[in-house]
Amino acid sequence: MKQQQHVLIAGAGLAGSLLAIYLAKQGFKVSLFERRPDMRTVDISAGRSINLALSTRGIHALRETGVLDEIMEYALPMKGRLMHSVGSELTFQPYGRTEDEVIYSISRGGLNISLMNAAEGYENVSLYFNKRGTDVDPERGELQVTDEVTGAVETHSGDVIIGTDGAGSAVRSAYFSKLRFNYSQDYLEHGYKELTIPPAEGGGFRIREDVLHIWPRHSYMLIALPNADGSFTCTLFFPYEGEASFAALDNEKKVTAFFKEQFPDAVPHMPTLAKDFFDNPTGSLATVRCSPWDMGGKALILGDASHAIVPFFGQGMNCAFEDCTVLNDLINEHGSDWAKVFPLFTESRKPNADAIADMALDNFIEMRDKTADEAFLLRKELEKKLEERFPKRFVPKYSMVTFHRIPYAIAQQRGKIQNTILEDLADGIDEADDVDWNRAEMLITNRLTELQDDIIQ
Ligand SMILES: Cc1cc2nc3c(=O)[nH]c(=O)nc-3n(C[C@H](O)[C@H](O)[C@H](O)COP(=O)(O)OP(=O)(O)OC[C@H]3O[C@@H](n4cnc5c(N)ncnc54)[C@H](O)[C@@H]3O)c2cc1C
Repeated sequence: MKQQQHVLIAGAGLAGSLLAIYLAKQGFKVSLFERRPDMRTVDISAGRSINLALSTRGIHALRETGVLDEIMEYALPMKGRLMHSVGSELTFQPYGRTEDEVIYSISRGGLNISLMNAAEGYENVSLYFNKRGTDVDPERGELQVTDEVTGAVETHSGDVIIGTDGAGSAVRSAYFSKLRFNYSQDYLEHGYKELTIPPAEGGGFRIREDVLHIWPRHSYMLIALPNADGSFTCTLFFPYEGEASFAALDNEKKVTAFFKEQFPDAVPHMPTLAKDFFDNPTGSLATVRCSPWDMGGKALILGDASHAIVPFFGQGMNCAFEDCTVLNDLINEHGSDWAKVFPLFTESRKPNADAIADMALDNFIEMRDKTADEAFLLRKELEKKLEERFPKRFVPKYSMVTFHRIPYAIAQQRGKIQNTILEDLADGIDEADDVDWNRAEMLITNRLTELQDDIIQ
């Protein structure tokens, strides 16, 4: 009986809190253990970035769990990329084809709090803070937890254990000794640093607030996403070593001079730049791939715990939320037959997680290197025109990933085919309107199948 099943979740971050709501709605008893103090009562950083881009997959999950309306109250729509050149020229490139194809800048802390509040609104959900998951005994259904305040070690029993404890997952660590577990972790040579553009004096935004700002500089880039209080969180993605690198910028004078040279139109809006640069930590970026994600029907990892990816497609959280949707769908189909549900989950999600991990790595090169490039802008224009004419067949890769719930693996595969079409069609033209439409139709119908209605929404 569903009601009698008890699910233990380690990690009340974004995925864990959302999953608790899905499972509570299914009628399970849910205990959620979080390593950190309760961020609703203690002022702590919510984690890996201050704000995030929310898109269709995440929105779908938030709608299904009934929390979307509250979250949309503090979400800020971003219509496209606004590229800033070294000479401070601006180029706007819309993300979507229609007005409603936008992404949303959202506060990570605000979102996490909304999700925890919603989870706690169910009487069958209990949240425990300062409780760090340390080990799993899948056979006995036990999660070992250490109290971060007292140091006491506790053992909690349930029917199944789910690890949503992020990129450094302790639940995942327990898999090594218990399974033939495949694992890889690949660091980028770039780290990231968060910086701030404060609100304008007297309130409001200092720069355009309805876009994602990018200062692409080939081997590195600066981006800025708006916050509801009028500020922007800027993130510098920058090499650790080399001529232009964190190692090279070792004092405030060098930081200010470098920013003035490379990001001249941002600097006047960053009064605390040099201080922030040294006060704020440098975060590392890695891709984690592993398998299997399930220990038969006893334990499961999802979200960053099973597939941490680099942030350049804005999909880590969206993918983690989609994990929760897929798990919920499998429970709808098979109930609490975990021995069926968990392996089916790994089977269905792993290829998609691998695909978005690859696409996120590719998108770093696109964002920092190509967004300012004429040929790239022509291809983007062409993509839009092709989608207008052939909406069931040609959907730009960015749109497949961001504005649809087309499985990531399919988006990746079709994206590669579409690239060959774009290369053929863009060859020898300077304007998207000069494209040979007969050839376009021939290439598209020959190389791309029609997308089914259920997959394209
Ligand atoms: C710079 C940056 C920018 C990003 N931008 C975007 C974006 O724009 N869009 C997007 O979709 N994604 C983005 N991401 C990715 C996104 O942050 C992650 O994919 C998302 O947070 C994953 O959610 P999660 O719940 O799996 O993990 P987390 O959000 O990391 O949550 C894990 C939780 O588990 C807790 N925990 C850890 N260890 C334990 C333990 N042993 N026991 C109990 N609790 C534990 C942590 O305290 C935390 O609360 C970005 C990431 C970075 C680094």
